[in-house]
Amino acid sequence: MRGGSIAVVGGSIAGCAAALAASRGGAERITVLERADDRLRDRGVGIALQSDRYDELREAGYVAPEMPWAPLTRRLWSVRDGEAEHGRVVGEQPFPFRAYSWGSLWSELRRRVPGDVVHRSGAVVTGVEPDADGVTLRLADGHEERFDIVIGADGYRSVVREAMFPGADAAYAGYIGWRGTSSDVADLPSDGEDAHNIVFPGGHCMIYRIPDGRGGHRLNWVLYTAPPEADGLHPDLRTPTSLPPGRLNSELTERLRALVADNFPPYWASRVLRTPAETTFIQPIYDLEVPHYTSGRMVLVGDAASVARPHIGGGSVKALQDATALEAAWKAGSSWKEVLERYDAGRGPVGAAMVALARRMGDAQVENTPDWTAMDQAGFDAWWQRQNSGSDRRSGFGGHSMKAG
Ligand SMILES: Cc1cc2nc3c(=O)[nH]c(=O)nc-3n(C[C@H](O)[C@H](O)[C@H](O)COP(=O)(O)OP(=O)(O)OC[C@H]3O[C@@H](n4cnc5c(N)ncnc54)[C@H](O)[C@@H]3O)c2cc1C
Repeated sequence: MRGGSIAVVGGSIAGCAAALAASRGGAERITVLERADDRLRDRGVGIALQSDRYDELREAGYVAPEMPWAPLTRRLWSVRDGEAEHGRVVGEQPFPFRAYSWGSLWSELRRRVPGDVVHRSGAVVTGVEPDADGVTLRLADGHEERFDIVIGADGYRSVVREAMFPGADAAYAGYIGWRGTSSDVADLPSDGEDAHNIVFPGGHCMIYRIPDGRGGHRLNWVLYTAPPEADGLHPDLRTPTSLPPGRLNSELTERLRALVADNFPPYWASRVLRTPAETTFIQPIYDLEVPHYTSGRMVLVGDAASVARPHIGGGSVKALQDATALEAAWKAGSSWKEVLERYDAGRGPVGAAMVALARRMGDAQVENTPDWTAMDQAGFDAWWQRQNSGSDRRSGFGGHSMKAG
């Protein structure tokens, strides 16, 4: 299917990848509409890509070796053990991941988008009006424009999705991710090649190093736990939102800091507690599924289409795979209808499988945590296996394999 005018709403990971897909598919005019202004683009957090999924995406031409990354090989799950500096390891597992910083992954992807794709930053889409053979977008500045196809890459609060499936909103999972990055990377155990998962009653905290974009590294961590119900510290997060540093509830942060001081091995407690407040923020965790990835002339990619809780380590992989599937459908289809049907049939089930697996992981790792202190390697392996049972062979931790077999 060649030609056509395409709008991509959202210019983050999924948006850049979708613009690349549309271009490779043969679209004639592509416009990316991104609400943020370019200076705000680097969100400074870590993104880990599982190595096999990376290889598939590299073959498809969506990631490349020159994107700065740091290797991770093993994940150690540790509990506090009195004053033992690093705590006690209750389970270890292979962790073949490549750690990126969000900014470096995004900017390399953005660089790959051909020059004839128009990027408009500061462009907020406020209205999406489909008709029989196109979609009109309304922008906050009053401007209106009609396109043959609109791709919603506008994240978990997608306005495109709202036009496709009114009320299909992200559902708050009941807990938050408290994230931080710092330059505190000197003397990490095993030269920084291990990912560390500190576990405690009611949650866990992933800690690993990421590239800093200047040849060095930063420490990246994300702690998952339910905010306390009492004292008004349980923000109403049922309406999708986020709490950036300026709006961070300082009492909530104090409670999180106390949790770290009480439950983390001393070495990891001090690494987390030394993180400057201005490089920490809170992201509520959501689940999102849609009945279809397409409707009329509208298409969803990335978090706009489905949100799997981050314990699965596969959200960016899923977004990039959505784009590769869209490119393949675009090249194979001879009408818009055929392109969109192929894409929906291929990606809908994958999104649903990822959301279901990630929900099981969230249940086991945050909502109903085991007695970590009683766990040994055999118990850990059985516990991990239970979370993964029920998935098809191609879906697993780190994402879904694009290769059959
Ligand atoms: C705590 C946490 C940890 C994670 N860790 C990992 C990990 O290790 N590995 C991994 O693969 N994934 C991870 N993920 C998931 C991953 O970050 C996302 O799945 C991935 O970045 C997909 O992003 P996206 O482009 O679909 O959405 P987003 O990055 O949310 O982008 C949406 C874009 O749309 C723009 N936008 C929104 N509304 C409008 C509008 N009306 N008009 C114009 N523009 C608009 C926004 O400004 C934004 O730039 C994690 C997620 C969380 C919450």
